[in-house]
Amino acid sequence: MTTEFRKHIQHALTQREVQANTKNVVNRLRNHRRAALSDQADWQRLRRQSTAIRTHAVDKLPQLLELLEDKLTQNGIRVHWAETTEQANQIVLTIMQQHNASFVIKGKSMVSEEMGLNHYLKAHGIECLESDLGELIIQLANEQPSHIIVPALHKNRKQIARLFHTYFPATPYTEDINALAQSARHFLRHKFATAPVGLTGVNFMVAETGTLCLVENEGNGRMCSSVPPVHIAVSGIEKVVEHLSDVPPLLRMLTRSATGQSITTYFNMISSPRKPDEKDGPLEVHLVLLDNGRSRIYNDLELRDTLNCIRCGACMNHCPIYKHIGGHAYQTVIPGPIGTILEPQKSGLNLYGELTQVSTLCGACREVCPVSIPIPKIINRLRWEYIRQSACNIPGAGSGKKKTEAIVWKIWAWSCVHPVVYNRIGRTITNMRSLIGRILKKISAWTAVRSTPKLTKTTLHERLKALKIEDK
Ligand code: SF4
Repeated sequence: MTTEFRKHIQHALTQREVQANTKNVVNRLRNHRRAALSDQADWQRLRRQSTAIRTHAVDKLPQLLELLEDKLTQNGIRVHWAETTEQANQIVLTIMQQHNASFVIKGKSMVSEEMGLNHYLKAHGIECLESDLGELIIQLANEQPSHIIVPALHKNRKQIARLFHTYFPATPYTEDINALAQSARHFLRHKFATAPVGLTGVNFMVAETGTLCLVENEGNGRMCSSVPPVHIAVSGIEKVVEHLSDVPPLLRMLTRSATGQSITTYFNMISSPRKPDEKDGPLEVHLVLLDNGRSRIYNDLELRDTLNCIRCGACMNHCPIYKHIGGHAYQTVIPGPIGTILEPQKSGLNLYGELTQVSTLCGACREVCPVSIPIPKIINRLRWEYIRQSACNIPGAGSGKKKTEAIVWKIWAWSCVHPVVYNRIGRTITNMRSLIGRILKKISAWTAVRSTPKLTKTTLHERLKALKIEDK
């Protein structure tokens, strides 16, 4: 692990307040989830069904995307394709410029975080305002989300109260949660009414009907997608499902796994711009479909399961590492176990290969994943790709390979098929074991924080000999 990455993790481990806040929220989410999924038989049945739906959709991704585009276009929704985040940003900017818009109000969207949209638009003179309460807190604090469902979970009530008092000085200082939410609501209401463009993410895209589904709890997503005259939705290409009937089981799994809710407060289905006989709704709806490495992931049958993710966050809430270091230490848009497998595949192992080490491989993430993504298996595959020699589909494969380590393993592999050499090396290491133990204790990060196992005085061969057991 490089010093830089290690530094971020070490820094995260010193942030006692962030750790306490993270643990507090994560534990609450876990308890709610457990209560909501207490019927094991029902959970397993629903899980099998959700896994089958997502696997089927991802396997048919190219066909479903074509069908989706046809249906959306028939419905009057304009579809834009972006291979990279740069292209996606450019598309959003062009739409904004076509409407002379200098302000966009945003609902929660992890894809817009992936695009770095706020910074991009700001650099082009366009103001972005987050309207999801957690995202607004993060924006005011000038930070990144630390969780995909609860972006500001690393902040406690007092910190948020101070932040709001700084940005909304007209509001008296309060730590009352309802009053804090009310002041944000008051601030946002006028912004919704005057924004020329609203931008949201998408949870599911239904190919057979050309429908965009948006799951949320605050109503801000509905405001963003229905009040401004132009609505732009941004989504990764993998969010497509084939049938409308695929949505209810996925929705049940999403809300239960994410927050333990049996139903979401708002479920929006957007199938067209405002029709002539309708009183509200946007006059234009655009969908920006972002690839950014997803097609490459699709092309690898073993890694393809990564695209099944419905972004519930349950893997984060159950990850012992996430719980201790929090989301920011990962230095990625999506943290936690799903980020550990998604970010290196999207952005390259040369950038995020070390992330694959941020896992104990305990398997908790796989256990709780509502769509059965084999995260530990994919982590192992990525670890291998990070250090292997031959090229593969993932950018940056082999970038973590260390020459000395590779030579040592080569010698080891060679000695394993040459018994005489193997025995000699074995005996030499055995004879020098106390010296090697002392050296390891000094140089190894592993033994620096763990006691080195005590070596026995006699070797196995010597003990067998003493016991008069034949050593074959
Ligand atoms: S990998 Fe599974 S548990 Fe993690 S966010 Fe995605 S769907 Fe949820």
